[in-house]
Amino acid sequence: MEPHEPDGLRLPEHIVCVDCGGRCHLGSYPPHEGWQPGDVAFYRCEDCLDRWDIVIGDDGV
Ligand SMILES: [Zn+2]
Repeated sequence: MEPHEPDGLRLPEHIVCVDCGGRCHLGSYPPHEGWQPGDVAFYRCEDCLDRWDIVIGDDGV
């Protein structure tokens, strides 16, 4: 049995908006087994309301 890591990767709750420098809130709920590399999470900017789709890498966002 391989050890199971239930939480997967941890994503930041907020990232900085590339366009306006505002704060983007994580808008996706983690999958049942937690975030994995290659998953896509989206963030919504509170200032310009842009949506950012982030593909998760090996080390998270
Ligand atoms: Zn923005």
